[in-house]
Amino acid sequence: MSQHTITVAGVAVDARHWIGGERVASTRTFPDVSPIDGSTIGEISRGTATEAAAAVAAAKAAFPAWAATSRAERARILHAIADGVEKRIEELAIVETTDNGALLRSHRRGVMPRVAHNFRFFADWLLQLDHEDFDTRGHTNHVSWDPAGPCVLITPWNAPLMLATWKVAPALAAGNTVVLKPAEWSPLTASLLADIAAEAGLPAGVLNVVQGYGSEIGDALTSHPDVRRISFTGSVPTAKRIAESAAAHLTPLSLELGGKSPLLVFADGDLDLAVDLAVEQYDNAGQVCLAGTRLLVEEPVAEEFTRRFVERASALKQGDPRDEATDIGPNIHPRQLEKIDGFVQRALAAGARAVIGGHRKEDQYYAPTLLTDVAPDAEIVQEEVFGPVLTLQTFTDEEEAVRLANGTRFGLAATVVTGDPERAERVTARLVAGTVWVNCFFVRDLQAPFGGSRLSGVGREGGTWSFDFYCDVKNTVTAP
Ligand code: NAD
Repeated sequence: MSQHTITVAGVAVDARHWIGGERVASTRTFPDVSPIDGSTIGEISRGTATEAAAAVAAAKAAFPAWAATSRAERARILHAIADGVEKRIEELAIVETTDNGALLRSHRRGVMPRVAHNFRFFADWLLQLDHEDFDTRGHTNHVSWDPAGPCVLITPWNAPLMLATWKVAPALAAGNTVVLKPAEWSPLTASLLADIAAEAGLPAGVLNVVQGYGSEIGDALTSHPDVRRISFTGSVPTAKRIAESAAAHLTPLSLELGGKSPLLVFADGDLDLAVDLAVEQYDNAGQVCLAGTRLLVEEPVAEEFTRRFVERASALKQGDPRDEATDIGPNIHPRQLEKIDGFVQRALAAGARAVIGGHRKEDQYYAPTLLTDVAPDAEIVQEEVFGPVLTLQTFTDEEEAVRLANGTRFGLAATVVTGDPERAERVTARLVAGTVWVNCFFVRDLQAPFGGSRLSGVGREGGTWSFDFYCDVKNTVTAP
């Protein structure tokens, strides 16, 4: 075992970059800290412009051969990666939980199987990706999805491997090569993915993983002239920096950003379902981009809704994310906790009332919080908190419901609870959101378009939309 190996619950994780099929160390490191107990898990290679350039060069060198590899062979290797993920679900689950504090039970049973599915889905989608040829005055139009080149993929810490592979899988399927930069607060499972991909037979340089702070390695990746696509999931301020940097070479961008999504509860809806869905918004300690953090409830049922919500939310068990019985784990970092508490204390000072929570707990835990008496233009209603903090506002008619729902700068998702299908149709048609759920939440099919409107993002990924983004789509017109 090398001096660069970190052992996490018995699992060996290499703390170096993975560039051109080799492990590469930086001279400097950064500490990776577990949110569970604040302990340092290990020291990770701290990449700079040098490693960024080396990784893009490796991706560029590997591109022609991978792009020329048949669709069938690319799909076979992606399925082999999925096999590798499935074999290591337990290891990936415990490493990710240690790294980002999300529930072990979700990683085991939901997230890691979904990671494998990301590879299988895009492998299979690639094989049936087609567009019927069509005729123009006797000329044939043929559409093809050509590989675009090296892709830079930058991902956040709230669902590290899930969000990384949601990009890596279609990028590789499309015949591109990849430089993946995971978040510095959760660097470990990306390193394991590099091992799994190599074991599955992915040629050297096709997938590269670089570690480090976004402020130190980010610009070198996103402004590089050889990079042909940048896909980013993260915050709005970082997205703006990346867009400026990518402008140097007009590199096409896909941006999946934050949200402040509404959950609308109409009086004609199933109130128990509405309460279930509302409590679900505390999942992952509220660190979910899609979370419906603004509860908008029709006046006549607001009191009963709140009573049932408080009863359900008070029964949630907060604690060690490795414990099967835990519902809410810690938040990712002391800095994130400061940010969450800052939002809540400012809201309380401005006149909000905490129905539950409203304060920190010991260590890195924040009490699940519901705030009422909030103005539509209050900071707590307008800005993404990214913690277990919900607000509740009431409305008196459909018009007001839609106005409140659309009343932020974001447009990632929305959830509507109603028993009236016609109302559902009317309201969803007027909502500004990339995804709208009616009487459900978080049901996601990889073939559906995914992305945000307004400040929640630019572009859509998923199914054919992913290939549209990761490929140079070409139309060939042939004379009769
Ligand atoms: P962040 O923007 O701080 O960081 C995301 C990534 O960007 C990290 O890997 C970071 O190192 C990197 N980065 C930082 N500065 C950079 C720079 N100048 N150049 C290049 N890369 C740089 O976001 P975060 O705090 O890690 O993630 C939380 C945010 O992500 C929330 O806003 C959340 O809503 C959003 N998110 C969106 C989705 C979605 O699909 N829409 C999914 C999950 C999370």
